[in-house]
Amino acid sequence: MYQNVSLHIDGAWAPAAAGRTLTVLNPATSEPLGTVAHAERADLDRALEAAERGFAVWKKVSAYERSKVMRKAAGLIRERTEAIARLMTMEQGKPVAEAKGELGVAADVIEWFAEEGRRAYGRVIPARAEGVYQLVIKEPVGVVAAFTPWNFPINQAVRKISAALAAGCAVILKGPEETPASCAELVRAYVDAGLPAGVVQLVYGIPAEISEYLIPHPTIKKISFTGSTAVGKQLSALAGLHMKRVTMELGGHAPAIVFDDADVDTASKILAANKFRNAGQVCVSPTRFLVQEKVYEEFVAKFTAIAAALKVGDGLDPTSTMGPLANPRRVSAMEGFVADAVQKGATVKTGGKRIGNKGNFFEPTVLTELNLSMRVMNEEPFGPLALMVPFKGFEDVVAEANRLPYGLASYAYTRSAKTANAIAAQVEAGMMSINHHGLALPEVPFGGIKDSGYGSEGGLEAMEAYLNTKFVTQAGL
Ligand code: NAD
Repeated sequence: MYQNVSLHIDGAWAPAAAGRTLTVLNPATSEPLGTVAHAERADLDRALEAAERGFAVWKKVSAYERSKVMRKAAGLIRERTEAIARLMTMEQGKPVAEAKGELGVAADVIEWFAEEGRRAYGRVIPARAEGVYQLVIKEPVGVVAAFTPWNFPINQAVRKISAALAAGCAVILKGPEETPASCAELVRAYVDAGLPAGVVQLVYGIPAEISEYLIPHPTIKKISFTGSTAVGKQLSALAGLHMKRVTMELGGHAPAIVFDDADVDTASKILAANKFRNAGQVCVSPTRFLVQEKVYEEFVAKFTAIAAALKVGDGLDPTSTMGPLANPRRVSAMEGFVADAVQKGATVKTGGKRIGNKGNFFEPTVLTELNLSMRVMNEEPFGPLALMVPFKGFEDVVAEANRLPYGLASYAYTRSAKTANAIAAQVEAGMMSINHHGLALPEVPFGGIKDSGYGSEGGLEAMEAYLNTKFVTQAGL
């Protein structure tokens, strides 16, 4: 079922010019699944030339026609969901039901941007003199270099590609080498929907080699990256040196604040479901559970019971509710975080260990008795670790929520409208979801502040990132 993955350059699927490949492993078995083509300089040069030509064609296609191609691609994603979801599970690990959910969101994202492209309005500014027209015109930025990670192999890519295409840009996408096949199926849907040659290229290889070549290249006008803060800072610095626009969707360490007037039952269910979704490998995953003293014991007990009842197994098994971690690095990272915390006094309420010695399975884990000297309280775990921390009053919880340099997602549960308004105003984050989990819809902004990045991957703001603003003023003859 799993086929070797090619590059897509200038409208054709092909191996890398030098014939090199990388091996793709199944995270549930540690066995090889197949290979992915490994692009080198010659492939990137072809991709850059093709993208220049693709941009020249696509920018002239009307927004109306662009949206037709995009909506067709969304339809193909829906039709192919069963097959693509299985590929995604085989290479990434998440349960098939989650993979199907990801594909549903992908189709939704494409359709939203398809429509939004038709509304990329400029404006007319009233002039100071009669007969003068002051026009603000939106134009596509040009060829975009997009870098996307392995945790959501399709959804990290679909937002970037779709906003760019809706705006009239061409794209070179460096997809995730560890989960290449499902990302390639996204590109295939676009190609099969009738996207002209050269508008989207898909490459894989050594990430640093590709970014170091593409970012400074004069053909590339905009960079969009999703991944760790450390890498995002390096790529932003390089982009800055060459005056390239960036969108950076980076790490987080989301506070999930539960006040003592909250519906603790609902809070524990929603937060646990979102903590362990995709085995916690989600940038907006709730991580620091800051729970007010009066309801702390109750929340920890309810949350821990849900965590302990999860069935960890191969995502292809329909009874699995959490799959393996996507790569062995994450298992070592979890072991390191837990060992460090336990050595400094933490208690493991449930989990804490790797499962078996085949595949990258790790137990859903709840830790209590934490302190700020522990690494996990400061670094993004990016895995199934939930940190329980009691707090006394409003000011204390705001201080803890804002303590870290991250500012991506945040969550709060309270029955008081006053507290809800106050916490939304005080927490330094790009997103806050109160009394439900409502992030990441295509029509709403999605992005961080502080070390979590810059720009948005949803809503009007996402389109804006792929558009230049041109001002034209014209007087009558
Ligand atoms: P990593 O920092 O090496 O890589 C993260 C991502 O960036 C990968 O997709 C990788 O291919 C890419 N990357 C790395 N170096 C690059 C470079 N020089 N140029 C272009 N792309 C580059 O770490 P990892 O082990 O793959 O992932 C672990 C960490 O990454 C996590 O702790 C998490 O913070 C972060 N991450 C975040 C997201 C997210 O959704 N924001 C997704 C995946 C990983």
